[in-house]
Order: sequence, then structure tokens, then C-alpha cells
Amino acid sequence: MEILQYTDAHIDFRQRLRRFMEREVVPHIATWEADHKVSRAVWQKMGREGFLCPTLPTEYGGRGGDFRFAVIGIEEISRTNHGGLGAPLHSDIVVPYIMSYGNDGQKKKYLPGCATGDIVTAVAMTEPGAGSDLSSITTTAEEDGGQLVLNGAKTFISNGILCDLVIAAVRDPHEENPHQAISLVLVEDGTPGFTKGNQLDKMGLHSQDTAELFFSDCRIPAENRLGDKGMGFFMLMDKLQQERLVTAVMGISVTEFMLDWTMDHCQKTTTTAGRPLTRSQAVQFALVEMATEVKLGRTFVDKLVVEHVAGNNVIVETSMAKYWCTDLGKRVANRCLDLVGEVGSLEQCPLARGFRDVRVMSIFAGTNEIMKGIAAKFMGL
Ligand SMILES: Cc1cc2nc3c(=O)[nH]c(=O)nc-3n(C[C@H](O)[C@H](O)[C@H](O)COP(=O)(O)OP(=O)(O)OC[C@H]3O[C@@H](n4cnc5c(N)ncnc54)[C@H](O)[C@@H]3O)c2cc1C
Repeated sequence: MEILQYTDAHIDFRQRLRRFMEREVVPHIATWEADHKVSRAVWQKMGREGFLCPTLPTEYGGRGGDFRFAVIGIEEISRTNHGGLGAPLHSDIVVPYIMSYGNDGQKKKYLPGCATGDIVTAVAMTEPGAGSDLSSITTTAEEDGGQLVLNGAKTFISNGILCDLVIAAVRDPHEENPHQAISLVLVEDGTPGFTKGNQLDKMGLHSQDTAELFFSDCRIPAENRLGDKGMGFFMLMDKLQQERLVTAVMGISVTEFMLDWTMDHCQKTTTTAGRPLTRSQAVQFALVEMATEVKLGRTFVDKLVVEHVAGNNVIVETSMAKYWCTDLGKRVANRCLDLVGEVGSLEQCPLARGFRDVRVMSIFAGTNEIMKGIAAKFMGL
């Protein structure tokens, strides 16, 4: 039984998006991986065809769909075996902050461009000295008349080079309590004092333009604060369920891709004795064991999507799913490479890229250790 109960509208969205990916994404992946960023044009093409921000209300240019449209978007991008196109981060993680906490003016100014792909967004929390522990960020926002003056540095920011708009976590230097000191602010590319630094040369997600960002006496209007002053920590916490679910969907989808590719390869590849690899019981057992775990993960994730769409609190379960699915991806990538052998080590083999890309997923969106810590806390342990 299909857990997610997709409607005709969902199915049509998936079919159109899959054709779009085959036409506009797959042929360019090798170039983007070498360039270490995707093209600007693909964002606009995705936007024009209605594939960005599917859950945004129609008055802002979205399709007003439920979270299942977002899931389809993540799955279809994952099917291309390429994690560089940061559309899920933009559509399903960053833009929802503006939708939930932006005032009318901010929504009208930014959201339509986010839907068309003319505005690419990023969220900047991590700093050179602050990763898991957000309360230790040091980027400051000092009030000066009607302006905020930002100073500090962010690092590992996805979409960092291409972004036109960044939601940055900043602290009030005069507030002692870390949980009341943090605010979120909207910073536009081109604002004096805001510079994009080095693009980080990562082991995986090569075409994802992950970068450093710097704020040096960067003045923004005080009305660029998102939501209330000092509420940044709570807004970030409020949105984490969806962020983790997005990463869990990504993790299980990439894992499915790698396993499907390996099964196909093992069925078509013969040993020196002329028999398909899958005639070996050892290979059969390995594939069946991995397929079992992938089905368990998929069933869990789909169930959580249903709960999330219904508005239920599943923070413990989404934390579990984020860590388990991304760890599963690492195990499956490793085992698939062993089954495939030397071919799997070649750069042109899809497994090589999948192996690298899935490896970094346990680090972002909250490390897998942090996920277990959250689950433990809410389980009262
Ligand atoms: C590809 C990629 C993309 C990213 N994109 C973004 C982005 O768009 N925006 C952004 O703001 N950040 C982004 N990040 C940064 C990411 O969020 C951080 O790497 C993450 O929060 C962990 O921080 P850290 O790397 O500094 O590790 P640390 O926090 O220094 O942790 C180091 C180790 O200690 C463990 N640890 C830390 N605290 C605890 C604890 N309390 N209990 C148990 N174990 C603990 C961690 O699990 C980890 O194993 C990205 C990172 C990567 C790799």
C-alpha cells in the first residue's frame, strides 16, 4: 500500500520534473562538478517551469502544494545522483523561514523572486568557531539608528556563491543570555560590507557552491530583521523538524539510487565463468540485506512525511530518521562499491559520486550525534 497516497497532481508534477531533470540537469552534471557550481540558468529554468518552492502560496508565485510536492522535488533531484543543485535547501528550508516569519513587505519583496529562481537563497548559521553549538555564534548585529551593523564570518554555507539573499544568524552583543541574543536577518547580495569568500573544495557534493561569507561593518535596514528581535534561536528550532526530514528524504533517496544501480549492474555483469554476479548467493544475500534496510528506511520516512503534512510533532522521529537514513547511505555505498569492484572506483561510475556525496550528509542539518542527543533529550533519557 502506498503510504503517501499521491494525487494525480503529485504524479503529474513528478513526471514533468523527471523529464526536466533528464533534459536540463543530467547532461550538465559533469561540467557542474568540474566547475564546482551549477549554472545560474538552471535555477531560473526550474523556477519558470514551476519546480521551485512548490509549497509557497500561489499569491507569491508558488503552487500552494503540500509537503509531498517538496518530497517529490528532493527525490527527483536525488535520482540524478547529484547533490549540487541546492533547490531543496532553497525551496524547503530557507524560503519557509521567510514565509513563516517575514512581514508583508518582506514576503512581497522576496518570495516571488524565490519562486521564479531569480533569487537564490542561503541560510548562514555556522561559523569558523561555532557549528553544532549555535549559542556560541559571534557574528554581531549592533543597532545604530534605523540600521543594523553586522560584523563576523560564516562558513560552510550552501548556495554561498550563487545566493542573492542570505538569512544570517546574528547576536546582539549586549544580550548575555545566548538564547535571547540571536536574531535572524536578511542580507542581500551586493550590500556594502557583505562579501563572499572562498568556495570550499569539499570531498563530496562538488557542484554545490559551499562558501565562506564575511560581514564587515555591513549596514542593513533594521526592518531586514526576520521575525522579532532575539527570537532567532526559537525560529531555528521551530524549523528543524522540516530541515531534518528533508535531509532524511535526501539520504534514503540517494541510497535507493545507489542500490538500484548496483542491482542492475550485478544482474548485467558476468563472472569469468559467464554467470551473472547475482547468481552468487553471497551477492544475492548482500543485495537482499541492503534492500531490506532501504525498505525499512523508506517506510519510516514516508510515514514521517504523512505525520509532518498533518502538522504533528515528530521531532524525535525525524531526528532518528535523519541520522539513520544518512548512516544507511554510507553503509550501502560502501557495500555496493565492494560488490561492484574496480568499476566502482572509476570516476565515471555513479557509485563514486554517490559514495562521496552521501558521506557528508551525516554532518550537515545537525550532525548525526546531535540527532541522537535530541532524541535522547525528548525521550527523557
Ligand atoms: C556539505 C555541508 C554543507 C553545509 N551547509 C551549511 C549551510 O548551508 N548553512 C550552515 O549554517 N551550515 C552549513 N553546514 C555546516 C554544518 O551545519 C556544520 O558542519 C554542523 O553543524 C557541525 O558543525 P561542525 O562541523 O563545526 O562540528 P562540531 O560542532 O565542531 O562537532 C564536531 C564533532 O563533535 C560532535 N559533537 C559536537 N557537539 C556534540 C554534542 N553536544 N554531543 C555529541 N557530539 C557532539 C559532532 O557530532 C561532530 O562529530 C554545512 C556543512 C557541510 C559539511
